[in-house]
Amino acid sequence: MSQHIVVIGGVALGPKAACRFKRLEPGSTVTMIDQSSLISYGGCGIPYYVSGDVSDAKELCTTSFHMVRSPEFFKEIKGVDVRILTKATHIDRENKEVHVENVTTGETASISYDKLVIATGAAPRKLGLPGEDMQGVSYVCNPDDATRIREGISKGEVGNAVIIGCRFYRSGNGRSLCRHVGRGNERRGNHRPDHAAPRQSGSCHHGPKAHGRKRCELLFR
Ligand SMILES: Cc1cc2nc3c(=O)[nH]c(=O)nc-3n(C[C@H](O)[C@H](O)[C@H](O)COP(=O)(O)OP(=O)(O)OC[C@H]3O[C@@H](n4cnc5c(N)ncnc54)[C@H](O)[C@@H]3O)c2cc1C
Repeated sequence: MSQHIVVIGGVALGPKAACRFKRLEPGSTVTMIDQSSLISYGGCGIPYYVSGDVSDAKELCTTSFHMVRSPEFFKEIKGVDVRILTKATHIDRENKEVHVENVTTGETASISYDKLVIATGAAPRKLGLPGEDMQGVSYVCNPDDATRIREGISKGEVGNAVIIGCRFYRSGNGRSLCRHVGRGNERRGNHRPDHAAPRQSGSCHHGPKAHGRKRCELLFR
């Protein structure tokens, strides 16, 4: 039986699920939606986009064969329909419909499904501290957040930077900020446990020593 599979979220889990389903049931229709414009990007590359080592956010979406994993790529190569800038606003389980809104135009529609995959990821945990929403405070979770930081740096709005949370991903952001902000500026990383970026391996992770060389200071506990 031909089914309609709808996948909400198009970064890591969403595309995997969509393409796998299409491979298993080629006769089915698979639709993937995401509220943002970039899909299927490597989140681990975001710090390198902040640093400028990756110049264009679209490079985060590039395959090893230099193809950009765009909606057209998913349609032509994978047979998956993709709607970007499309936000799921309501799930009507009784009628098996997802209500969506075009985040640019505000236009609304509904998409019916036989099976629904929710791959909407995670959001940074807010600290609940006074001042956390002030100008100059950024959460880094996706390329759009990184773009805002890059723009701030290029406008000369960043002198000193403080990074809260230095494990795994954030340590990459810290190194990147050090490189990008430039000489004469500082970055501090604050982290509660005794070890920043534990169990590091491979070329992505260099640990506190590298931070030191780049005028970074790590504060624990
Ligand atoms: C800076 C940074 C560095 C990282 N480095 C590494 C690393 O080195 N190694 C590693 O393994 N992992 C790393 N990660 C983590 C990795 O990126 C995530 O684990 C992975 O992206 C999770 O994928 P996901 O598909 O579950 O969710 P997400 O990547 O969060 O994608 C969810 C998508 O759903 C969309 N969405 C949410 N709500 C809706 C809605 N209502 N309607 C439509 N769309 C919606 C969001 O816009 C988003 O695009 C890093 C993450 C960050 C932020």
